[in-house]
Amino acid sequence: LDDANVKVAVRVRPFNRREKELNTKCVVEMVKNQTILHPGGTNLGKADPRNQSKVFAYDHCFWSMDETEKEKYAGQEVVFQCLGESLLNNAFQGYNACIFAYGQTGSGKSYTMMGSVDQPGLIPRLCSALFDRTQKEQREQESFTVEVSYMEIYNEKVRDLLDPKGGRQTLRVREHKVLGPYVDGLSRLAVACYKDIESLMSEGNKSRTVAATNMNEESSRSHAVFNIILTHTLTDLKSGTSGEKVSRLSLVDLAGSERAAKTGAAGERLKEGSNINKSLTTLGLVISALAEQGTAKNKTKFVPYRDSVLTWLLKDCLGGNSRTAMVATVSPSADNYEETLSTLRYADRAKSIVNHAVVNEDPNA
Ligand code: ADP
Ligand code: MG
Repeated sequence: LDDANVKVAVRVRPFNRREKELNTKCVVEMVKNQTILHPGGTNLGKADPRNQSKVFAYDHCFWSMDETEKEKYAGQEVVFQCLGESLLNNAFQGYNACIFAYGQTGSGKSYTMMGSVDQPGLIPRLCSALFDRTQKEQREQESFTVEVSYMEIYNEKVRDLLDPKGGRQTLRVREHKVLGPYVDGLSRLAVACYKDIESLMSEGNKSRTVAATNMNEESSRSHAVFNIILTHTLTDLKSGTSGEKVSRLSLVDLAGSERAAKTGAAGERLKEGSNINKSLTTLGLVISALAEQGTAKNKTKFVPYRDSVLTWLLKDCLGGNSRTAMVATVSPSADNYEETLSTLRYADRAKSIVNHAVVNEDPNA
């Protein structure tokens, strides 16, 4: 048994066009592993607590705000080195691993997880590093298989993003007695090289449900979960017996954390918003409950995993058998002060979650 806290990182993106046009002030500062949020408002009363700078410490603080600051700047490669590489090592040792991106719409979650063709994010970098490594370590007595699945949780419903038939129908979440919660009927595709994954991913991304909101036209109101299942088979050439280690990497791009009201949601959108908030709210409650357990205040605190699809499926990643990292993404702008503060607080709570990761070994497989 091997306990470790959830690793928490914060990443601040550059000003976007709108923020530049508004000539807004940068209220986020990073000094080593501290993120400092400075007062943003100009007409706050003296007693207003927002007049005080707030200091938070995290495992990593990624300054992606200004590329010209060479010393400080953390691009996609730095983020991968800090978060991706150790999780990859864990996966090869047979541990489960999970990274999730949390933050308001437009703060850089998808950029961090998926990135672009020119600036690939964690998922493509993890995949290509994974194949480099399986190729290097492949030998007569040792073999690897890699499978992927990709799903979307939208309005508390699960859709298969890799379904060759389009995946319009929703899938059911079930619970296996030993293996835990799973999505019934989710495609699990074997991939032989990075190119395979790349084309699957772009197909999957195309079918993600995207709805325009006032905040960000390309914003997604859904949670996207990309899973990589690595099976490592060791064969004893003399006796011909073999054993397996299976590890799962879950890469989660959460829906925007902002309140539905701020994005001008109404009607159908509001319903979506409240259901999306159901998953995010439950995630928050799960994190709080686990944080209390982590600090030993309340070891028996009830954790409401089952209250949302997201937390039920991510159960293992939250306080369970997994190495988990969270990237909280924020805007640098005074304009987003409240959302940034709430994201930093959310991330702060996640730090005290303790996971109990064990190697998934089955010598009789
Ligand atoms: P989210 O997924 O949180 O809604 P996105 O990842 O789509 O946000 O980011 C919004 C916009 O900001 C995109 O155009 C993206 O390319 C840009 N962006 C986000 N983070 C960064 C970053 N670290 N460096 C450069 N551009 C970024
Ligand atoms: Mg996004």
